[in-house]
Amino acid sequence: MRSAEVNQLRKRLLVLKYQLHERHGAVCSENERHLADEGGVPADRDFRGYEQDVTVAKAERDLMEEVTEALGRIQRGAFGKCEDCKKDIAHERLEALPYARYCAVCARRRSWGSL
Ligand SMILES: [Zn+2]
Repeated sequence: MRSAEVNQLRKRLLVLKYQLHERHGAVCSENERHLADEGGVPADRDFRGYEQDVTVAKAERDLMEEVTEALGRIQRGAFGKCEDCKKDIAHERLEALPYARYCAVCARRRSWGSL
């Protein structure tokens, strides 16, 4: 992959990381406000919403880890290679998923997800 392309994807990853950080911070402070309002424990009527917040926060933390990993791969010069078969990941795939670890073939073979 050309370094200009890597640079562009790196920028997108940095923006994504920043956005996740901002959102994650917002979810935390919303929960904190909630907990403060309810005297430490979320009330039953709000518990579903609270749980959803936590699930969203976890998914975003996971994504943030993937983004951080991808930035690390760029630094190590390992970016854009499938971690499984070591082949180049298609550029269109990286455009759609800049933090992809695997090529489309290997990702499909893995049952646990689309990364
Ligand atoms: Zn592969």
